[in-house]
Amino acid sequence: QFPFGRRLPCDIYWHGVSFHDNDIFSGQVNKFPGMTEMVRKITLSRAVRTMQDLFPLEYNFYPRSWILPEEFPLFVDEYQPSFIVKPDGGCQGDGIYLIKDPSDIRLTGSIQSRPAVVQEYISKPLLVDKLKFDIRLYVLLKSLEPLEIYIAKDGLSRFCTEPYQEPTLKNLHQVFMHLTNYSLNIHSGNFIHSDNVNTGSKRTFSSILCRLSSRGADVKKLWSDIISLVIKTIIALTPELKVYYQSDIPAGKPGPTCFQILGFDILLMKNLKPMLLEVNANPSMRIEHEQELSPGVFENVPSPVDEEVKVAVIRDTLRLVDPQKKKRKDVQQHKECYKANTRYNYFVCCRCQTLENVPEGKEEALETGPAEEEECEGSRGPEAGLPSLCLKQVFPKYAKQFNYLRLVDRVAALFIRFLGVKGTTKLGPTGFRTFIRNCKLSNSNFSMAAVDILYIDITRRWNSMGIDHKESGMCLQAFVEAFFCLAQKKYKSLPLHEQVASLIDFCEYHLAALDEKRLVCGRG
Ligand code: ADP
Repeated sequence: QFPFGRRLPCDIYWHGVSFHDNDIFSGQVNKFPGMTEMVRKITLSRAVRTMQDLFPLEYNFYPRSWILPEEFPLFVDEYQPSFIVKPDGGCQGDGIYLIKDPSDIRLTGSIQSRPAVVQEYISKPLLVDKLKFDIRLYVLLKSLEPLEIYIAKDGLSRFCTEPYQEPTLKNLHQVFMHLTNYSLNIHSGNFIHSDNVNTGSKRTFSSILCRLSSRGADVKKLWSDIISLVIKTIIALTPELKVYYQSDIPAGKPGPTCFQILGFDILLMKNLKPMLLEVNANPSMRIEHEQELSPGVFENVPSPVDEEVKVAVIRDTLRLVDPQKKKRKDVQQHKECYKANTRYNYFVCCRCQTLENVPEGKEEALETGPAEEEECEGSRGPEAGLPSLCLKQVFPKYAKQFNYLRLVDRVAALFIRFLGVKGTTKLGPTGFRTFIRNCKLSNSNFSMAAVDILYIDITRRWNSMGIDHKESGMCLQAFVEAFFCLAQKKYKSLPLHEQVASLIDFCEYHLAALDEKRLVCGRG
């Protein structure tokens, strides 16, 4: 806190809640602009849905979801044994309830006034000691461009406090049986605080893995699936995050870089398939818990489980974003970018605008692997003596297996190019027309009048969903919908992801030709 203003710029700014701070022009901030908005229940569901439309099998780790109020008519026609209703923007289990019949949805206060996500309820979770539990994993998004993701090797397992039964009309309301939130279960008389990381109502994830492994479970495959879930979820979030980023930190102007610790909440199904429940932009980093010593008298006491997991996450985050290390790494990365090899695919390294090499893709299990480059350096340098890193790099380490999913990122790059005035997040009608014209998408079958109608129709619908009224114009999700529409029109018989990929190639080709022409004219 700086009551009289900050005197000197800092290397690292650690904010409590969100990115906003207009006085930062250098250094690193521990929040990304727009992250809090992106991980809200509705926005996350929409972002994952877009990816499910393109790659249904790859994104089947997120429960089927309906966004209320818009999708209420679709939802009431659904048949599922049970659903879970979650108010948008809620946390810690607040306002969540289970229903068996879509018509049981509580319309009190009207769903218009409290938008929500309804999900298929995962009714066969993996149980330990007959109890349902979820996993909180800590993930460091170290950089958006280029994408760098780290996962903590250990996390927390948070247990329910009543033995689990599949939902029936009788037990539907028993939150201690169905909801794993610590903030709820702490109020159950059955909650067990334990000094041991292997027992009690909050344990380390590694202790669960040990137990599963001793029962013969394929723990390596489970980790591989979890890493894949985390990378794919972040790939779903990055397009919109980039729109927020360019709006708050315009390219070419002095500004900080960002990193962020995210909390991933994951439920394991009975068959060990991990399912994403939600992503937290501000995961609790408390290493104490409140204990009622005598009625009404509370005291904060250390929580060994939280301490074991969270201290390592914070320590490693600071080590990874260490400004001195960053300088050394940038120099090294710059050198590597120049190495050319015809056996490799290539893409543009955004930091130095040269071609970066990526080995040809081949299937391999994903693991949180052996010591990273950073650790080796640490053992010689100023970090000698510190424990080895608990945060393991998974991206770009596994980039070659996931880059094909990053189609919407490329659509977002087109969107950002046509946004025009820096600082905006929505595309105006002129920007959309310029996009169509420059990418040569208008022809005798698709007139500019039809382009305007497409723009108005889609923009009006997205704006009526009441997402963000601060700015007028077309948001990224609306642009993505329009782009998919154009792709389906142009490449009729292909699967959607191929249609979209073909249209992106087509647009990028025409824009590159235009840039080339402008360069030649400029030189002339
Ligand atoms: P909150 O942000 O309020 O904690 P969550 O989405 O994490 O909301 O849901 C709260 C709890 O409800 C989770 O910790 C989990 O135990 C349970 N839960 C959430 N979604 C599902 C689901 N689709 N199937 C089964 N249980 C779920």
